[in-house]
Amino acid sequence: MAIKQPKELNPFVEAVAQFDAAADMLGLEPDIRAILRVPKRELTVNFPVRMDDGSIQMFTGYRVQHNINRGPAKGGIRYDARVSLDEVRALAMWMTWKCAVVNIPFGGAKGGVIVDPRKLSVHELERLTRRYATEISTIIGPESDIPAPDVNTNPQIMAWIMDTYSMHHGYSIPAVVTGKPLSIGGSEGRMEATGRGVYVVTREACRALGIPMEGARVVVQGFGNVGSITARLMALAGCKVIAVADIYGAIYNENGIDIPAAIRHVQERGRLEGLPGSEQIPSASLLETPCDILIPAATEGVITEENASRIQAKLIVEAANGPTTVEADAILKARGIPVIPDILANAGGVTVSYFEWVQDVQHFFWGEDEINARLESIMVRSFKAVQAKRDEKDCDYRMGAYLLAVARVAEATQVRGVYP
Ligand code: NAD
Repeated sequence: MAIKQPKELNPFVEAVAQFDAAADMLGLEPDIRAILRVPKRELTVNFPVRMDDGSIQMFTGYRVQHNINRGPAKGGIRYDARVSLDEVRALAMWMTWKCAVVNIPFGGAKGGVIVDPRKLSVHELERLTRRYATEISTIIGPESDIPAPDVNTNPQIMAWIMDTYSMHHGYSIPAVVTGKPLSIGGSEGRMEATGRGVYVVTREACRALGIPMEGARVVVQGFGNVGSITARLMALAGCKVIAVADIYGAIYNENGIDIPAAIRHVQERGRLEGLPGSEQIPSASLLETPCDILIPAATEGVITEENASRIQAKLIVEAANGPTTVEADAILKARGIPVIPDILANAGGVTVSYFEWVQDVQHFFWGEDEINARLESIMVRSFKAVQAKRDEKDCDYRMGAYLLAVARVAEATQVRGVYP
């Protein structure tokens, strides 16, 4: 008997299929559809980095701008061995829709370098970052394209990018990146923003669907910036986070994992494994753990046609970008499991990045309470708009979000016209 191999996933094919479905439902005219279906600009850079032992290693990186009709391009930078041009294209397209769902004046972009940063020393990581920043400096800038953190990048890496770009110009340009440390023009609340946004949207979805948050069993895949903060806020809201996972493995406690202790454990040991009071479970079974709320917060393509029928959750909230394949989406829809889509659920990060950029440009900084209140208001407003669109069109949450987003980008594209 032939063994069924897992399908090779291409995130850009997935992203275009999602766009096409929305474009069909909107009846988008062919010219606009053709423009929005492809990224506007793609830069591939191959560059050398001197390693600590004196040798030279070549690296490949990308920066893709999908659409800039509603404002400067915006999107994170990912360091990962699995980065590919198609992955970066997909992530850039999703950024366009995400900024449009929450109605902030940015277009979509994404960057990535093919590298496993765990294999580099801090000095190598800094040299790689500064060289990559230099290579993409021809297209990034505070008015044109503003990077931010994503998988395996953090405020320190943003600081090196900001410093490199500023050195080229001879003065400090903090607004060229967001997610920076506070000491150089970062924003209060940015570190927590994506997780906080996921929490707010989950709370609103639970209200709408009649799922009580108090005692709700939550499973979170990924325990980095987004996953750990989401888990902490869900636990604070009275949920029981029964299972969490990182790339090394998954842990379980039916009475609820002590999330602050798990965060400290990861800070000390670099992984969740071995957290006292929890048992190790196979990573493959994490997503299939019976729960009320399932939150993928790691990477794309993890809920597939292979495992979607075994998922036992009442609600899925996509904290990661692109965690559910198009085929899995259809299975979940048929099974009546609502999915709050990435372009809404994790938009808190880019929303506070927008606040950071506004503060940098104005040289006028806001307090954390103000940031969190503005974030809350945008996330609640956006959830309600998606819910209203879903009800109006009798579709799922993903389609509701896409209909809103694509219509906004299409309108901006239409009204600007085609140059020359
Ligand atoms: P991160 O690097 O801080 O953390 C990633 C986490 O996922 C780590 O705990 C890692 O061990 C884990 N992981 C990776 N592969 C895994 C796997 N196969 N199984 C289980 N765990 C795995 O990254 P992050 O910033 O938290 O980003 C996570 C997701 O959220 C990504 O999809 C990213 O694009 C998305 N996102 C991030 C932001 C942001 O502000 N950082 C904003 C919006 C969306």
